[in-house]
Amino acid sequence: MGQAAKPTRHNRTLTIDFHDETTYAELLGNTTAFVEFVLAFLLALGFQLLHKASCSEGGSLTRHSHYARLRLGGLTIWRVQCTTCKAVFTVLPHFVLRYRQMRPEVARDALLATHGGLSLELCAVIGHISPMAVYRLVCSFGHQSLVPVLTRCGLPLPRYLLADEKHSHCRTDKVYLPTIVSGRVIWHLGYSASKSAVAFTASYGAFQRAALEHEPSYRVRGALTDGFDSTTKSMRTLFPGARLGYCLRHALNKLPDKLIGVSASVRQSVRSQFHTLLYRCRQRTSLRVVALGQRLRRFADHITATVGAEHGERVRNWFKEKKAGWYAVLEDPQMPSSSTLLDQAHNAIDRKLFAMKGFHHPAGSQAAFLTGLAHLYNLIPYQRRALSAGRCGVEVEGGRLPTHDWMLNLQVLTSGGFR
Ligand SMILES: [Zn+2]
Repeated sequence: MGQAAKPTRHNRTLTIDFHDETTYAELLGNTTAFVEFVLAFLLALGFQLLHKASCSEGGSLTRHSHYARLRLGGLTIWRVQCTTCKAVFTVLPHFVLRYRQMRPEVARDALLATHGGLSLELCAVIGHISPMAVYRLVCSFGHQSLVPVLTRCGLPLPRYLLADEKHSHCRTDKVYLPTIVSGRVIWHLGYSASKSAVAFTASYGAFQRAALEHEPSYRVRGALTDGFDSTTKSMRTLFPGARLGYCLRHALNKLPDKLIGVSASVRQSVRSQFHTLLYRCRQRTSLRVVALGQRLRRFADHITATVGAEHGERVRNWFKEKKAGWYAVLEDPQMPSSSTLLDQAHNAIDRKLFAMKGFHHPAGSQAAFLTGLAHLYNLIPYQRRALSAGRCGVEVEGGRLPTHDWMLNLQVLTSGGFR
C-alpha cells in the first residue's frame, strides 16, 4: 500500500512557452533564433538546470551545447546536450504534454473539473478521454514533489507550519494523509496505512528531507497540531527545537465533549465562555501565558461551581494535559493559533478523493496522485467570488509564477529538467 512512484530515467524535460504554435514552427527553421529564445526563457525563469552532479557548467545551457532535432509523433522537438556532463535536456513546447497524446487544452479542462470535485468519469466525459487518463495525468504532475516546485516560485520554506492527518479510505481500509500547510499552500501531502508515530514521522520526514536538501540550515520555529499524540510525537522527533502548539479552535470544539450528560444549552454556554477566555488572552500584548494559566484555573473552578465537581475535575485534567500546547501558541505572536487553513485544504482534497473513489486501490500510485492534487490546490486560481479571486495559493503567499496561465505554470514548474 502507498506505492512510491517507480524510479524512472532522469526526466530532464524543459517546458518552454513559445506563445503559439506558429512561433514554434518558425523558430524550428532557425537554430540560432531557437537557441536564443530558449535561453531567454530560461534566463527569465531564473531556475537552475539539472546537470549531472559532476558538471561544472553551473546549471545553465550555453550556445555551445549540442543541439539536435528529432521527430516525435509528427512533431519536431529539440534535444540539447550539455557538452561537459552529457546530460540531455528535451525542450518541450508548451502545447505538448510529456509522453501524452492529450493536448494541454483538454488536460486543462479535465484538471479544472477534477479540482472542482467532479468525478473522474465526468471529467473524462468533458474531454472525451478515459477516466484512467485523467488519473495518470494527475500522477504525472505529482512525480515532481511539492518543496522544489514551491521554492521555484520563490516561497521561503515555512518557519511556522500546521500539521495534521486527513482520514481517508483505500477500499475498506482506513488510511491517513499526513499534511503540512502554511497559509494557503500545501507543503506536504503524504499517505500512510498506519496512524502510529513512527508512520507519521516517516511521512513528515519526507518533507523535512526535501526542505533540508533545499536549505541545509532549515529550522522549523513552530508547529501547530490538533494535539493528536502521534502527530505531536512525530513533530517533536523531526523538529526538536520547534515550539509545539495545539490549535485553539480545536480546543474550543472539544470542550463540550468533556461535559458528558450535560444539556446542550449548558454546554453551548460553557463553550462560548471558553471562547471569550481564549480570545481575551490572545488580545493581550504581555503576560499572555500567565493570564491563560490563571484563567484556566478559575474556569475549572467555575465549572465545578456551576455544572458539578465531577465535570470540573474532568475539565481540570484536560486542561493539565493540553495547556502546554496552548501556552506555546500564546508565547510566540507569530505562531498560528488555529488550523482552519489546514482544514480547508483537507476539505478541498477530500472532495477530490471522494470523486475518485474508484481509483483507490492498494497498488495505485498514491504518493504521486496526492502530490498531483496538492499541485492543483497550490496553483489553480481561486474563483470569482472568493476573497483572493483570480490568484492562486502560491500568489496569495507572495510567490512568483512563471506565466499568467496556471496550466502552463503547472507544466513549467513540474518540468523535470530543473534542479
Ligand atoms: Zn552539464
